[in-house]
Amino acid sequence: MSESYAFIGLGHLGGNLAASLIRNGFAVTVFDRDPTAVERLVALGATAADSPAKAAAKAGNAITCLPSPKVSEAVLAGPGGLLEGLPERGTWIEMSTNGRDEIVRLAALASAKSIETLECPVTGGVHLAAVGKITALVGGDAALYERHRPAIEAMCAKSFLMGPVGSAAVIKVITNMLAFIHLVAAGEALMLAKQGGLDLAQSYHAIVASSGNSFVHETESQLILNGSYDIGFTMDLALKDLGFALAMAEQSGVPLELATRVNAIFEQGKAAYGGSAWSTQIVKLLEDAV
Ligand code: NAD
Repeated sequence: MSESYAFIGLGHLGGNLAASLIRNGFAVTVFDRDPTAVERLVALGATAADSPAKAAAKAGNAITCLPSPKVSEAVLAGPGGLLEGLPERGTWIEMSTNGRDEIVRLAALASAKSIETLECPVTGGVHLAAVGKITALVGGDAALYERHRPAIEAMCAKSFLMGPVGSAAVIKVITNMLAFIHLVAAGEALMLAKQGGLDLAQSYHAIVASSGNSFVHETESQLILNGSYDIGFTMDLALKDLGFALAMAEQSGVPLELATRVNAIFEQGKAAYGGSAWSTQIVKLLEDAV
C-alpha cells in the first residue's frame, strides 16, 4: 500500500505539488491558513483537516511548502503542529526553500521527537510544478529517500539525492542564486535590444539559439515580453533565498560580488514594487530608468 501524506502550504508551489500527488493516486490530507487554497485541493480530491497536527495524525507522513523557516518552525513544532500529530518514525518532508543552518536545526527538532526528516526543495518554477516536471533536490537518509521516492516522483520529473539533511539546501540556494543573476542579466540584454531598435520577439528567439541563452531567459523572458510577469514567485521569496546565499558566503569566505549586487537590485525592486510583486518585475527597474 502506498504512503499517504499531509500537505501543509498550498500556495503557488505547494498547491501544484499537492495536486500532482492527488493526480497520481496518493491519499492527501491538506491544511493551509487560507481556506480558498484548501477548497481548491479538496475539489481535486484532497481531505481537509483543521490543523497540521490533525492532518499529520491522519496521514502518518507530512509534507510542507511554506514561505519562510519561521513559518516552517511554527507548523512543525508550534501548538497544533506536525510534531503533535505524526506517529513515531513518521516522516516530515520539507519542500520549502531553507538555508542549510535552518533545515539542520528544524530536522533536529523533529529528530528529538523520533520524526525523520527528508529535505526536498525543488527547482524549475511553478509552470513545471503544475505538470509534475519540476526537479527535486533531496537531503537525508538514502533508505528514507527510497521509501518516499514514489511520492517525490509523482511530483517531480527528476530527483537528486545530494547527501545528508542540509546538503540539498546548499545546492538549492546555489541554483536560485544563479537564476536571479540570470534574470537580471536577461533583463539588461532585452533592454539593450529594445534601445537598439530590435524586434524583441525576434531577439528573444535569437538569444534562445545563442551562446548567451539560459533556462531563465528561455522560460521567463517571454513573461516579461508579454507583460504578464506572472512567474508565481515573489520578490520577498527571491530576497529570502539570496539572503541564504549571502549568509553561506559569509560563513565560508567566498566573495559573491554578483550575488551581492543582485541582492541590492532586488532590495530596490521590493522598495519600488512591493515584496509580493513577481520577481520578474525586477526588470521594470531598468524599464523605468531608461
Ligand atoms: P506562497 O506564498 O504562494 O504559498 C505559501 C502558502 O503557505 C500559502 O498558501 C499560505 O497561506 C500558506 N501558509 C503561510 N503560513 C501558514 C501557516 N502558518 N500555516 C499554514 N499555511 C500557511 O509561496 P510559494 O511560492 O508556494 O513558495 C513556498 C516555498 O517554496 C518557499 O520556501 C519558496 O521559496 C519555495 N519555492 C517556490 C517556488 C515558486 O516558483 N513559487 C519555486 C521553488 C521553491
